[in-house]
Amino acid sequence: MQLASRLTRFNEPETLKMAKLARELREKGNDVVGLSLGEPDFDTPAHIKKAIIDAVNNNFSHYPPVAGYPELRKAICHKLKRDNNLNYLPEHTVVSTGAKQSIANIILATVEAGDEVIIPTPYWVSYSEVVRMAEATPVMVRTSLESGFKISPEQLEAAITDKTRLFMFSSPNNPTGSVYSKTELEGLAEVFRRHTGIWIMSDEIYEYINYVGQHESIAQFDDLKDRVIIVNGLSKGFAMTGYRLGYIACSDVALVKACEKIQGQITSGANAATQQGAVAALNESIEPSMEMQVEFKERKQLVLQMLSEIPGLKLSEPDGAFYVFPDVSSYFGKKVGDKLIANADDLAMYLLETAHVSTVTGGAFGEPNCIRISYAASRSDLQKGFGRIKEALANLK
Ligand code: PLP
Repeated sequence: MQLASRLTRFNEPETLKMAKLARELREKGNDVVGLSLGEPDFDTPAHIKKAIIDAVNNNFSHYPPVAGYPELRKAICHKLKRDNNLNYLPEHTVVSTGAKQSIANIILATVEAGDEVIIPTPYWVSYSEVVRMAEATPVMVRTSLESGFKISPEQLEAAITDKTRLFMFSSPNNPTGSVYSKTELEGLAEVFRRHTGIWIMSDEIYEYINYVGQHESIAQFDDLKDRVIIVNGLSKGFAMTGYRLGYIACSDVALVKACEKIQGQITSGANAATQQGAVAALNESIEPSMEMQVEFKERKQLVLQMLSEIPGLKLSEPDGAFYVFPDVSSYFGKKVGDKLIANADDLAMYLLETAHVSTVTGGAFGEPNCIRISYAASRSDLQKGFGRIKEALANLK
């Protein structure tokens, strides 16, 4: 039997692949430190869990409206006003089964086969793969550690062609932790003003995990607002990865309706009880999220300290999210026994197989010189994991 050729166009997420390999090693009795997954190790705040339990008890067991319950769409607008000073109406929003589905909806709604989508590297693993699934062409623009892994207006300008339909980026960024300032966003906005007809997908899922202060959204520029599609979700900021809830906001109603139409044929919308939890999350105090942020910030300092003790790594200090993304290229070409470490893929596999620490190769994010290490893990796991990484790297000759 034959499978569709579309499957050859994209890869499975490397993040999930590494987590699977780590699980398999663990099942064989090995003590594996998991630093590959992007998920908070905290529990979901109690008031959100209570809202979900109440929803279950109140029989939220029926199909929800495809674009989300009206009270949740209203809560999204409330959140966007409260946190970002942005004005949206409920009909500008669509609730989905995780930001991942929101992103897939956006791509399917905006690009045709052969269109180009500009993605600054490093980027989150799924951007390029879903673009390929949609038969469009991802146009990667490589940023450097020296520029803090941020795209410049000149680089953006140079990448635009008459086939460009969509620009996709995240701030705070996964995997680098870089955060665009208002001035930097204004620089990009200036380029977009010269090129109408390009949608801008602004993935803000790490908004609450920002160590440099005020989160800035590119949607704040009024003359671009109709073209900006904000993506956000509850996974990271509210420790709710398993509940699967994401959303978009865009003041172009046709785009919103397109996403709703696609979703209506694929999932019929997000879990009903989770949506009630999301109403509580977005309407009520975000103090628990801020407490998580404080803990992540302290862990970041711990991790930076431990990284500084490992020779041969280069790092751009992350301003947000919960990852470090060191350049490990000084280890390429080294060996342990007769095993050669030729690239970041080999290094990530070596760390997993030999040191029993799971990380993710930078290749998965479009940056072949780096690996991503998540610090969404307990301090004791971080100490154990970084200790083992240091020793394993020292064994490479
Ligand atoms: N966007 C970015 C940048 C992410 O890192 C992730 C998850 O890792 C997502 C979107 C998807 O999140 P969700 O769990 O809401 O699907």
